[in-house]
Amino acid sequence: MSVNLQTPIDYLKGVGPNRADLLRKELSIHTYQDLINLFPNRYIDRTQYYKINQLQRNNADVQIVGKIIGLQEVGQKRGKRLVATFQDDTGIMELVWFRGQKWIRESLKQDKPYVIYGKCNWFNGRFSMPHPDMELLEDHKKNLRSAMQPIYPSTEKLSNKGITNRVLNKIMQQLFVETKGKFEETLTKELLSELKLLSKSEALFNVHFPKNQELLARAEFRLKFEELFYIQLQLILKNLIHKKKIKGLVFEKVSNYFNTFFEQHLPFQLTEAQKRVIKEIRHDLGSKAQMNRLLQGDVGSGKTIVALMSMFIALDNGFQACLMAPTEILSVQHYNGLYNYCKKLKISISLLTGSTKTLERKKIHENLENGQLQILIGTHALLEDKVKFKNLGLAIIDEQHRFGVAQRSKLWEKGPPRSGEVGGAIPPHILVMTATPIPRTLAMSVYGDLDISFIDELPPGRKHIKTVHRYDKNRLKVFRFIRDEIEKGRQVYVVYPLIQESEKMDYKDLMDGYESISREFPAPDYQISIVHGQMKATDKEFEMQRFVKGETNIMVATTVIEVGVDVPNASVMIIESAERFGLSQLHQLRGRVGRGAEQSYCILMTSHKLSTDSKTRLETMVNTNDGFEIAEVDLKLRGPGDIMGTQQSGVLNLKIANIVKDKDILQLARYHAKRILSNDPTLSNPENKALLTTYHALGKYKNIWNYIS
Ligand code: ADP
Ligand code: MG
Repeated sequence: MSVNLQTPIDYLKGVGPNRADLLRKELSIHTYQDLINLFPNRYIDRTQYYKINQLQRNNADVQIVGKIIGLQEVGQKRGKRLVATFQDDTGIMELVWFRGQKWIRESLKQDKPYVIYGKCNWFNGRFSMPHPDMELLEDHKKNLRSAMQPIYPSTEKLSNKGITNRVLNKIMQQLFVETKGKFEETLTKELLSELKLLSKSEALFNVHFPKNQELLARAEFRLKFEELFYIQLQLILKNLIHKKKIKGLVFEKVSNYFNTFFEQHLPFQLTEAQKRVIKEIRHDLGSKAQMNRLLQGDVGSGKTIVALMSMFIALDNGFQACLMAPTEILSVQHYNGLYNYCKKLKISISLLTGSTKTLERKKIHENLENGQLQILIGTHALLEDKVKFKNLGLAIIDEQHRFGVAQRSKLWEKGPPRSGEVGGAIPPHILVMTATPIPRTLAMSVYGDLDISFIDELPPGRKHIKTVHRYDKNRLKVFRFIRDEIEKGRQVYVVYPLIQESEKMDYKDLMDGYESISREFPAPDYQISIVHGQMKATDKEFEMQRFVKGETNIMVATTVIEVGVDVPNASVMIIESAERFGLSQLHQLRGRVGRGAEQSYCILMTSHKLSTDSKTRLETMVNTNDGFEIAEVDLKLRGPGDIMGTQQSGVLNLKIANIVKDKDILQLARYHAKRILSNDPTLSNPENKALLTTYHALGKYKNIWNYIS
């Protein structure tokens, strides 16, 4: 009989109730299984020893052999500590304990050689090691199985209460003794042989007690693959089940609107990427399942036209469509852009935002319900309960990262009612678009349950946006450059950070900047627009339109122009206090220029004081225009949690794999998960039994490693 891995950790020999309690509280280890899945953070070479006279003041982990030659208590009351004098043949240092003194004093053996391990501090003219991990030399020699000693995740409380790394190591050994090191295989024979993976038992053994570097690497590979594979399996299955369960509206044909537009009104040739994505969307809309597609494309890659043509397909099938954007400015711009095409095709289209007048609003509500209105563009005003469609077939969300999940799901309820007594709505097809480039790897793991399309190509003729970094003291030169560009008929953005629209400081910076620019570029020769969050929506819109029409030369703005705005004649983007922006925000802002045929420029202005991260951000911007490359750097700087917010953190709570470093393994895992599910979507083939068993166990636990074993 094999040991049940669900056995509470208390039952493991050498653990006992106190330690079990600590393990539960500090490391969430409740069962044997949790323990086996406590993976080391790193490994250290325990065949390497230092002499005391070789120690450096760099706070590194070191291992030293020596003897305790004295022991004394120092200090009073709360400052009381136990200090041992530790000696080797080159010098003397101190070992210090702030807690557990009594127990340590009793268990320490003077005159016997010890191996101590830990971080060395330089304190009071001596090296000292607080709470060393220590072992008698004779035991150390016996226990030393390999050069790589695992270092487990720990907490201060654990080490203070005597559960040191060495103790964890011992407990782990005991677990392997009791289980005989035999663990059920969770991957298929086919995967094991095709990818030359270690078996589950071999992998677990070698991750905890690596025999050598090579086996450790293979063990880690197998476990990382497994972790990522099951996440992918879960996401892809969720997507498959979703498609089966959620019946979608079927758009059978592509006819008049789509074709007429394509043949007569398309203002440019579509890029290959745009064509491919439209094909993918057409396919989704024609299948019986509800579409849930994420469209990713860098700024300026031409997502709007894809959205428009998708809406035409909905209209061709007698359905309505809507497009929701995060800001008023952007909605207006979409509306104005799309209005012209719709007019040519005799399609009725309206705009609904927070500032739509009551009368107009009423008319929109009415025409939506009676079906006369075919396309509705707007802000989250679209989500209000009063907004009822006759038969909404397709809902598109632009810049979806600006919306919350709840807002998105509200659109689901706006579809046409189901027939029969079931009630509720048939969800419209959903297309979400984003230009916040999420690295593919990350997108695959967090949005793996959506279908993802990428527009990975910019329209032809786009010139690389020349990006430079300038210090504030070079402002005069920058002004001269602006003047030259305006001379050539170009327009210029000057953007100020307004992280919090209410922050007074930021507002003052903006107004000061506006004044100095007005002095530098006086009327009537120059016209300047200003747009910021404290203005009324209608004023914002008015100023914006002046700039769009080319009536003003310079647009001084806060980040309200960050997303979506499209003025092809604007060729210069000046970003003030650029060090205060995040990478993806800088990239979004830069994407406002470079939309026309002219050479465009982005100038990042900063003060002299820059942090290392700021420097990396600025350098990245100067070196590349590629949004996906920028996203990778951003991910490295901020980590996945910050980028995606807490909402998806569950998926990213990886135990052994690393989304940034292990993207090749992720790709491999996704490939195989897809391949297996496309041959056997229910995992009912006998050879996939291990996968099914594991997958079933999966639903019961939050953490992936709780069920893999
Ligand atoms: P984004 O993906 O950032 O939303 P837009 O849809 O606003 O990009 O497109 C950016 C600009 O590129 C617009 O002016 C648009 O008309 C133009 N554009 C889009 N697709 C093409 C294409 N295939 N060829 C030329 N210009 C295009
Ligand atoms: Mg856009």
